[in-house]
Amino acid sequence: MGNNPTTNESNPEVLESYFKKYPGVPKETILKQHLLSLGHWFSDAALQAADGALVKSYRLFSYDLVPMSEFKRGEHRRVPEHFVILNGPYGMRPVAIQTSLSPYSPYLIDVVDGRLVMTTEGRVLAEVRFPKTPDYYAKSLPDGTPYHEIVAFGAFITIFRNCQYWGAREECKFCDINENARQMKLSRDFTLAAPVKSVEDVVRVCDEVASDARKYGVSAPGFVLSGGSITKTLHGKSEVDFYEEYIRAIKGSSAKPRITFEVNARPREEVARYKAAGADNIHFNMEVWDKRLFEWINPGKAERVGWDNWVRWMCDAVEVFGPGNVQPSFVSGVEMARPHGFQSVDEAVKSTSGCFEYLMSRGILPRPQQWRREPSTALCKEAEQPPVPLDYYILLTRNWYECYQKYRSQLPQFGKRKAGLLAERNLLGPVHGAYGDYVMLSENLFPDDIEEQINRRSVPFENLEGGSSVS
Ligand code: SF4
Repeated sequence: MGNNPTTNESNPEVLESYFKKYPGVPKETILKQHLLSLGHWFSDAALQAADGALVKSYRLFSYDLVPMSEFKRGEHRRVPEHFVILNGPYGMRPVAIQTSLSPYSPYLIDVVDGRLVMTTEGRVLAEVRFPKTPDYYAKSLPDGTPYHEIVAFGAFITIFRNCQYWGAREECKFCDINENARQMKLSRDFTLAAPVKSVEDVVRVCDEVASDARKYGVSAPGFVLSGGSITKTLHGKSEVDFYEEYIRAIKGSSAKPRITFEVNARPREEVARYKAAGADNIHFNMEVWDKRLFEWINPGKAERVGWDNWVRWMCDAVEVFGPGNVQPSFVSGVEMARPHGFQSVDEAVKSTSGCFEYLMSRGILPRPQQWRREPSTALCKEAEQPPVPLDYYILLTRNWYECYQKYRSQLPQFGKRKAGLLAERNLLGPVHGAYGDYVMLSENLFPDDIEEQINRRSVPFENLEGGSSVS
């Protein structure tokens, strides 16, 4: 095990003690937060059941608690991108969870009595569904690059696979983008050699995704454009010149998609260019709110942009994009990282809750995504990083929801979207944190036939073979 140990503090009794301690908090979000924090593993039978499921893309970060070199059963080319838990002894309503592998986790996805289930210590907690692969995943470019290495899960495009924040003095300390690209190459299980995707290739695949959506009569896709920072130039272009070209071309494609763009905070003139090119939402991912921790954890961002500019430019961007359309992500839990993070749950929750109040009152939606403690990151190399206490995640998300209720008229609404190619992506909360689920579950915003919609687009989950062995 690496420098990111997994507590064995999980069995049904421990989980139930949290359910009792926080009776007003949806149980589903508590389990989801624990699964994201400690990772989860797959029995042989569960891996077998993942045949035909949407395979994990490793599109940006690894989101795993162990390196690919530890996988002995080809897990990285077999496990699903995400999965849904529902029903079971606690009568859970559906939540979708991004797959984060750890063989040391107490949580095992398994087949029990022929059904795909989530277990801990052999006890079933909920049923599990794996999403089916969309048709476009079977296609490849003439050079052999599969379409899904261009657009992952019908939505996510990592235009530049590396980041020019390089090495200990610049890379964000929780981030394994550059290490992830290295391990993908080493594994030889991914074909994409070039770190940059051409504009023509990206548009071609976006068209194919839109055509799949039309074929199935579901919502047209929206795309998230992401990639590493460009601090100097890439292919002779500055960051804004480089990314603007992609935004314009994708917006002009047959999909006419909504575009969400993730980038460093930039001044109003640059932001206006992204908007004019066709971006609808902008994500200035700030990662951590506390100023001292921002400088420690994001050295490249602190030096190139700085905390004050980051915050000011987020507020300026609201004037360009409109309230609700500026949506920075925060790596929640990283504010408790050792050795310089907050030492108590109370301090950490207080700091980040202050961030929610500041941003939401200004029409900005902070998105807390859980820290996965990936082993090749600077944080895990510098110090042992034990799991962030579950109390922190529960309290923080509860505060997020209270704040959201106060300012919701100027923030995005949940539960309004129709199913796209992957039903659970539009109909449930985001897979990497529990804030969206908290709203959906507290206000019962699911369509009446939610389970049927998810089942229809899942690989078989009952009448399966096999028992709980892990080879
Ligand atoms: S800006 Fe930071 S988080 Fe984003 S890819 Fe670069 S190092 Fe990673």
